[in-house]
Amino acid sequence: MMTGKTHVVVLGGGYAGVMAANRLAGSGRVPAVEVTLVDPGPQFTERIRLHEVAAGARESAGVEWAEVLHPRVQRVQARAVAIDDDHRMVALTGHEPVHFDRLIYAVGSSARPTSLLSVADPAAARTARDTIAGLPAGATVTIAGAGPTGVELACAVAVSRPDLAVAVVAPSGLAHPLTAHQAVARRLQRLGIAVGNGRVDPATGAATVDGSTRPVGQATVWTVGFAALPLATDSGLPVTGDGRLMVDATLTVPGHERILGAGDAVAVQGRAGRHLRASCASALPMGAHAADTVLARLSAPAPDTIDIGYLLQCLDLGAGRGHVQAVHPDDTARPWALAGRAGGWAKEQVCRMTLTWLAREARRPGSFTWPSGPAVSVD
Ligand SMILES: Cc1cc2nc3c(=O)[nH]c(=O)nc-3n(C[C@H](O)[C@H](O)[C@H](O)COP(=O)(O)OP(=O)(O)OC[C@H]3O[C@@H](n4cnc5c(N)ncnc54)[C@H](O)[C@@H]3O)c2cc1C
Repeated sequence: MMTGKTHVVVLGGGYAGVMAANRLAGSGRVPAVEVTLVDPGPQFTERIRLHEVAAGARESAGVEWAEVLHPRVQRVQARAVAIDDDHRMVALTGHEPVHFDRLIYAVGSSARPTSLLSVADPAAARTARDTIAGLPAGATVTIAGAGPTGVELACAVAVSRPDLAVAVVAPSGLAHPLTAHQAVARRLQRLGIAVGNGRVDPATGAATVDGSTRPVGQATVWTVGFAALPLATDSGLPVTGDGRLMVDATLTVPGHERILGAGDAVAVQGRAGRHLRASCASALPMGAHAADTVLARLSAPAPDTIDIGYLLQCLDLGAGRGHVQAVHPDDTARPWALAGRAGGWAKEQVCRMTLTWLAREARRPGSFTWPSGPAVSVD
């Protein structure tokens, strides 16, 4: 424990956690804020590139911590297993517990429970890559889910292994607002990717497509939604029905003023959070805002509530092609989009910008800004 200083522990070094840690570490506040980032990974993971790893198109989605993290952030390579707010302690795997004055919960999300392959984290993506790489020519890769992750993975596999058959299966085919565009369907068609209306059993991989049962494929990858990690529930903190940590519009856990949350791991209660989707585009500004709330409370003024809007939704369609849809602050589509190579170029710039924003916040804390959300009054 440190004295005369405020010790902020950030759990999870993803987009939200690193942004929060960088902003706090460089805040220049006196007495100082000390920041510890707890994450099990040897490197920062560019999670938005894990489908490329699974397809064998990219060796790794890892980035050296030094490239994205403020040098004053103390990093502990461990996994948090329990949070005790009464004693302000976090229990870790393979490391002594850490004491906190403030805690930011930013552990992200995982795949929904399944025995199938997945791309939700680096280890799962590597397993998927090894399985797909070992398939003989003509084998089928079935992808459960036709949302952005399923479509990005299907395109990446079809590009890197054109000798395989790739099938995407979802109850209503390409029905997700981002994948339902004709340009996306045309791209899938050109890559020879079959899209079926049906369901995949997450336990066995058996698929029912267009009313008929298919034999279990040689490789089936589950991309249907994300699930909350159990840490908040196991620690007795307030969670939503799906296990996400409940936070108010300042990103503070109700009844636990010392604990805040950001990113995929939390559900923002009330209107300010209603339009937010699990994404980098939410995690980055939420991480910055969680840090701002901590700093505001330390200096006495009441913290602001979040006000996060969206600009774009992006889809990587393989081999430098993509689809970038302009959206209103509430995430509903505007009437223009970039497709094909222009879309692929724009999508790549957005991926690169996520790292640039983190690195810039490490060099110039407080520099990261984000567009405002839809005009709503916060309840
Ligand atoms: C293949 C794929 C493609 C995607 N593409 C896009 C895209 O194009 N655009 C987009 O906006 N979003 C995309 N997403 C979603 C996006 O990656 C997430 O919404 C985003 O990573 C959430 O950021 P986060 O900081 O909340 O969590 P994460 O980035 O997941 O980071 C959480 C961190 O916490 C660590 N952690 C987990 N448990 C613990 C613990 N108990 N203790 C300590 N640390 C822990 C994890 O190891 C991880 O490093 C994609 C996701 C996937 C899987």
